[in-house]
Amino acid sequence: MNKVTGEVDNNGFYGRFGGAYIPEMMYPNLKELENRYREITDSREFREEFTGLLRDYVGRPSPLYRAGRLSDYYNTNIFLKREDLNHTGAHKINNTVGQIILARHLGKKRIIAETGAGQHGVATATVCALTGTECVVYMGALDVARQQPNVERMKMLGATVVPVHSGNKTLKDATNEALRDWISNPCDTHYIIGSIVGPHPYPDIVTRFQSVISEEIKAQLEQHNGNPLPDAVIACVGGGSNAAGAFFHYLQHPEVELIAVEAAGHGVDSGESAATIALGRPGVLHGCLSVVMQDADGQITEPYSVSAGLDYPGIGPLFAHLHQKGRVNFQHATDREAMDAAFLLTQLEGIIPALESAHALAFLEKRKFTPDQTVVINLSGRGDKDMEAYLKYIKEHNGGKSHQ
Ligand SMILES: *Cc1c(COP(=O)(O)O)cnc(C)c1O
Repeated sequence: MNKVTGEVDNNGFYGRFGGAYIPEMMYPNLKELENRYREITDSREFREEFTGLLRDYVGRPSPLYRAGRLSDYYNTNIFLKREDLNHTGAHKINNTVGQIILARHLGKKRIIAETGAGQHGVATATVCALTGTECVVYMGALDVARQQPNVERMKMLGATVVPVHSGNKTLKDATNEALRDWISNPCDTHYIIGSIVGPHPYPDIVTRFQSVISEEIKAQLEQHNGNPLPDAVIACVGGGSNAAGAFFHYLQHPEVELIAVEAAGHGVDSGESAATIALGRPGVLHGCLSVVMQDADGQITEPYSVSAGLDYPGIGPLFAHLHQKGRVNFQHATDREAMDAAFLLTQLEGIIPALESAHALAFLEKRKFTPDQTVVINLSGRGDKDMEAYLKYIKEHNGGKSHQ
């Protein structure tokens, strides 16, 4: 096996995946970004500002918490990386803080973003308020109707939310609209993408900003255990940004098993799922070559998951590559398995996780780890936003299981 590093090559590829498959009219925007992002993000001035905001505004380092009762329950050692305690409640803010500083260094005065469930839209609107930057968020009209609280949050933060009425009126259509805006406004606008997807150099930019997660886990585990290397790191994957962040600094340590959990919805073979690696084939989506859920004609399949953040028909090209190399073990969990895992964590540890993160927790039911092993789970977000789904589940299942 060739050494796997997580680094993109000079042409914007991870092995055969990645690249920039874009309309010619978008070329100048991306070229400018590609030419300048490394020099900017590697500069001392950028690093100091980024580190300072992560510390004082986001609240980093996020704790690495040894979950005692959950560890007893599974008879192993489980640590939770508490991205749920970040400002705005998830890992997404790490990326938007990095990108707003990058935008300023590029001289851009206007920010656009796309959002599905609204989590990335809120994280973007937040850093725009912080810096007094104009913010336009594209959102499918159906999602605007489904995700009212996040729409109200974005508006309160000063963003303009533009409902998109084309196609299925969901995330894919919002992304197309944002790309159209960027083509029309190449000089003053920066497009903040929310996961490790899209054309080069976005997957690399977002991976670098999120890699602070595994940088911290290493130092924190060293303190706890006298050893920075756990036996396994487990994360959920939608586009892949929280998983990439949690895995990045472990990619070069083959003794650390990296486990990515996709959303299987009602079941991988039910026709209602979002398990891209399990079901997809190589294809181009949103400007990059990766693995994509598609029908026989290459049309994108509509994904489904109870958790809006995992409801995406593609995956970052880095993960298509890591899967092909066999470096990351891909698994999946159904809606129901994630729900049960969320209730278990809530009742044993007093932590209500995001439904997305609950997919990672669900893997503990599928694999027995031993009492001397150490497992890190990336708790990508908190569950406040998912209360409606949790309450519905309680009603349908007579109060859910009790683990008191
Ligand atoms: C958006 C989101 C995800 C999924 O996105 P990735 O890019 O795969 O990390 C996971 N967890 C939470 C809490 C999210 O908000």
